[in-house]
Amino acid sequence: MPVPRAATPPRHLVILGQPVSQSLSPIFQGAALATAGLDVTYERREVAPDALEAALARCRGEGTAGNITMPHKEAVFALTTRPTAAARRTGAVNTFWFEGDALVGHNTDIDGVRATIRALCPAGIDGETVLLGAGGAAAAVLVALDQLQVLPASPLTVVSRTPARGRGLLEQVGLSGRVVATLADVDWSVVGLVINATPVGMREDDVLPVAIEALRPQAAVFDLVYRRGGTAWVNAARARGLRAEDGLRMLVEQGAAAFTCWFGREPARDVMWQALGVAMPD
Ligand code: NAP
Repeated sequence: MPVPRAATPPRHLVILGQPVSQSLSPIFQGAALATAGLDVTYERREVAPDALEAALARCRGEGTAGNITMPHKEAVFALTTRPTAAARRTGAVNTFWFEGDALVGHNTDIDGVRATIRALCPAGIDGETVLLGAGGAAAAVLVALDQLQVLPASPLTVVSRTPARGRGLLEQVGLSGRVVATLADVDWSVVGLVINATPVGMREDDVLPVAIEALRPQAAVFDLVYRRGGTAWVNAARARGLRAEDGLRMLVEQGAAAFTCWFGREPARDVMWQALGVAMPD
């Protein structure tokens, strides 16, 4: 995939979101910036939806680039004057910089998903693919699946409690698949990869997105959610011998791809993982 590059490397980086205090990006990006010898800082900025335009105007004035997190990814896409192909296809921006007055918006969540699915399913997907959720992250998952060319050999089902949103998402990214409203509408005996792109599992008391007992031993599990010590779903899947990954690799890889856009070189991924207190996975 061609990597879009900022013409001028930024002097300062931010992540705009609400809430944003939980963001790990300043931690692992800060470590990568220091290792690269770049005199660039990375800070969190809490931004309410009605203050988003002003926050971007401030970034433009400062020569600041950065990342966008919930709930602003779609809103920043709408404000982007120079969207990359990835941003246009997903309708969401998680990485931005300025070229003169133009706001360039890109989506590196796709890179994070691609890296995770490659790691989980190195020999391809052994059966059908089921995607839970139809929001911004699900859009990145669909584009990544398409870029990996695993569809339609692995038939796709989107589970969306709002089926119209699921159908709209498939139309937006230009893919075909089945959309169902509930987990009961899925034949789990043929599923090779199940991906959770809903917030289910973020809270301690959440149920598992899908009961592990429903899955075949050869199925792989990808949970976009991440928690210290792993998500309950990923831990339960691994305990039963299934291949499973949480959202941490996606987080680091979307950050690594953003770093490459801003500075035209790859960051030290091992340093990024080390800053998160986790050994770099294979
Ligand atoms: P979003 O745009 O709000 O979409 C969430 C989707 O989940 C919607 O389709 C929503 O359905 C569905 N949903 C919400 N609660 C649900 C529930 N209790 N049961 C079933 N479906 C439910 O959010 P997003 O930006 O796509 O993010 C989704 C998840 O991905 C979040 O947990 C986020 O933390 C994670 N994420 C991780 C990374 C990473 O780097 N690892 C990056 C981005 C996002 P409705 O449309 O019916 O409301």
